[in-house]
Amino acid sequence: MKRSSFFTLASFLILIGLAALTLRPSEPSPPVSQFTGLTMGTTFTVTLAGDIDATTLDAIKQEAFAVLEDINQKMSTYLPSSEVSRFSDEQTTEWMPVSTATAEVVDLALRIGAETAGAFDITVGPLVDLWGFGPVSRPDLVPAPSDIDRLLAITGYEKVECRLAPPMLRKVDPRLRIDLSAIAKGYAADRVAARLLSRGLHDFIVEVGGEVVVRGAKGPQTPWRIGIESPLSDRREIGDVLSLRDMAMATSGDYRNYFEDNGRRYSHTIDPRTGYPIDHALAAVTILDPSCARADALATAFMVLGPDQAFSLAEKANIAALLIVKTPSGFVEKRSKAFQAKAPQSL
Ligand code: ADP
Ligand code: MG
Repeated sequence: MKRSSFFTLASFLILIGLAALTLRPSEPSPPVSQFTGLTMGTTFTVTLAGDIDATTLDAIKQEAFAVLEDINQKMSTYLPSSEVSRFSDEQTTEWMPVSTATAEVVDLALRIGAETAGAFDITVGPLVDLWGFGPVSRPDLVPAPSDIDRLLAITGYEKVECRLAPPMLRKVDPRLRIDLSAIAKGYAADRVAARLLSRGLHDFIVEVGGEVVVRGAKGPQTPWRIGIESPLSDRREIGDVLSLRDMAMATSGDYRNYFEDNGRRYSHTIDPRTGYPIDHALAAVTILDPSCARADALATAFMVLGPDQAFSLAEKANIAALLIVKTPSGFVEKRSKAFQAKAPQSL
């Protein structure tokens, strides 16, 4: 299934979840205002508490869209002119000046790379392309082991260096490429949320491609309630519902963007340690964190680590994680202590 349709549908589902679950017959639901749009190969939706007139809402939408487009122009691997593409194409080990935004995202990505022992790795792009999940679509084929080995030799997050002031990047190996796809949507949601806050708005949900930032509440007595999609590839269902305030949430799963060959499923999440798509019993991960960029990256990293390593890292590093694990008798949920503290069970 192609990336864009996945995100469109995932976002749509979260919306339906919100609508359905906030309509409790006993209490009138506080009014909300909402807009959606397309950017970064995906959809975004902003939901604001209260009745907002159409003109103001349109002005807010234009502002949100501008923030997202700016990030897309800088970080997309689909645009040859983006900073990220230009840095990747540059066959040099010289420092290259970049925007503060790009340097901030790369800096955070490298730190999460170290924190997850290389499970999160922004240099896996060439392997993502080889497996057919990158900008250039290819037939769904399993690559030759020699091709995987050749590309593994030119990956490794520790071969990228980043400075924040002034913002610049450098490659230790000129062949290296970077791919911020697994962190940029979360970062974009953070930036839109920051823009809304600076406009004096305090109660809203920003969702970009399924990654969510929640601020304030829907009404004085009503928290925002966010549905998490069940990890099913044949149908779409809301599983857990969380009541959240001033928190970001990101989800990664193996159940949408994949191809099948000889009865095996190959996911778009690549294990940078082997060069192969992940292959284990972890079906989905949801991370809660004040930073959506961090939550987004950690969700992908946890999908790489697999159920056991991911759960022990969550407990050790106090990361709020909900893991959905496949077992012969169905899905089993595992919640880290930090997750239980941040999201007491609702519904
Ligand atoms: P998900 O919602 O499944 O996490 P994302 O879009 O956040 O999906 O991230 C998946 C994308 O991240 C892939 O399409 C690829 O470009 C990139 N990617 C794949 N494996 C890794 C990895 N181990 N570390 C960082 N980025 C990765
Ligand atoms: Mg991600």
